[in-house]
Amino acid sequence: MVRFDRIYSYDDMFQYLQELAGRFGSFTILRMIGESHDERLIPMLRVGTGAKVLLCTAGIHGRESLNPTVLLRIMEDYCTAYEKKETVGGYDAYTLLNRYSICFIPLANPDGYEIAVRGFSAVRNPLLRRLCKMRRIPSAEWKGNARGIDINRNFPCMSYTQQLLSEFPASEQETLTLMRVMSDYDTVGYLDFHSRGELLYYYRHAMPDTYNQSCRRLAEYLSALCGYRLGLPEEEFPTGSAGGNSVNFYSEHIQQPAVTVETVPDSCGFPLPLEQCERVYDQVRRLPLGVLACSAAASRNIRRLRDRRVTFC
Ligand SMILES: [Zn+2]
Repeated sequence: MVRFDRIYSYDDMFQYLQELAGRFGSFTILRMIGESHDERLIPMLRVGTGAKVLLCTAGIHGRESLNPTVLLRIMEDYCTAYEKKETVGGYDAYTLLNRYSICFIPLANPDGYEIAVRGFSAVRNPLLRRLCKMRRIPSAEWKGNARGIDINRNFPCMSYTQQLLSEFPASEQETLTLMRVMSDYDTVGYLDFHSRGELLYYYRHAMPDTYNQSCRRLAEYLSALCGYRLGLPEEEFPTGSAGGNSVNFYSEHIQQPAVTVETVPDSCGFPLPLEQCERVYDQVRRLPLGVLACSAAASRNIRRLRDRRVTFC
């Protein structure tokens, strides 16, 4: 079982994903969806047999080091529940994961994670290692990839703003990897796990009211499950320091609901305290299944409305 009293390295997590894929081979698929600039494979575990997919990412920011482990435990829980036909927090995992699948990408920025948890010596490429050190940012506070680029400001969307001269929209391999997954799969939604604040961000300045209203309904439902408050529209900066992120790109290009889940209280510093893992897990473990339950309910309602229209005719 995934433990919360230790920090897993990239290699540990990779091995654990392989074990999960081996143990639960009849309803999981482990895929290498891309490679980081410091040549680490980016793994994705698909859990479930349904064609429509919920995408869950963590670790886009290296220093937000608890969410990858929490997602790993959630994957393990869902796989076990599916196999035993048990529920998870009241949700029928077996039925939901036959209707849908969840694509988990727990380490979307593996180089950033390794820098944050193991220091700059974890960077294999000597040139990249030297460039990282020159930025004079403590390794425990490292957000970007091994080129020092913040992946979550690199997505080509309305709010994108250039960070450095060497950076342009989708210049990073990690960004391109996530963009490819978003377009390759038939997704019903996207949860992106970050830290800090115990907040859910749903509002997108670039999107029409109808989108923001349906995204808000989902976020309210998730808020009741995890106890996090909703971020205010004015807290979702349209440009500048928080623009160009993955949920903005997803909302604008895929147009399905996307919610940023900010775990861990605001008061926690970096490195994030390991004791927070259990608390975060208790708060968020039902969220992915909650999104699937909402999606199933929405399509039932659409069917009912359609049937009613036929009757009236
Ligand atoms: Zn973040």
